[in-house]
Amino acid sequence: MDKSTFASGSCACGAITYTITGTPKTMVQCHCHDCQKATGTGHVSLAFFAKEDVNISGPTTGYTTTTDSGNQSTRYFCPTCGSRVYGLNSGRPGTITLPVGCMDDHGWFSPNAVVYTKYRNDWDMTRTDIPNFEEMPPPPSKS
Ligand SMILES: [Zn+2]
Ligand SMILES: [Zn+2]
Repeated sequence: MDKSTFASGSCACGAITYTITGTPKTMVQCHCHDCQKATGTGHVSLAFFAKEDVNISGPTTGYTTTTDSGNQSTRYFCPTCGSRVYGLNSGRPGTITLPVGCMDDHGWFSPNAVVYTKYRNDWDMTRTDIPNFEEMPPPPSKS
């Protein structure tokens, strides 16, 4: 039985398309330097999904950086148009992050937290009425 589609998206040139069948596990806005460099902007708006709920087609190129916590973070982008389409992190197996700007509709986006606010500049406004963290907060304990 097909699960219904929650959202769909594509890169700017359309070579990469995807559909998402589950709802987001969490949503954050990240001001870290890697996200700033990867997007060329002040922050990225990310939705986290279960990997098995996201179906991506088309060619991607990945670039890996090491995060503060020592995990490997790989951002995948379109080799033709450069759109950053999704990311994987070795510290979060089973989870895929998608910058919501590549989605066809992202009016549902509602961040649960803002992270790496120590790199937020005054000109780049993200919400302050939700939890704000100077860096990445520790993951919730599993017990
Ligand atoms: Zn493209
Ligand atoms: Zn970041």
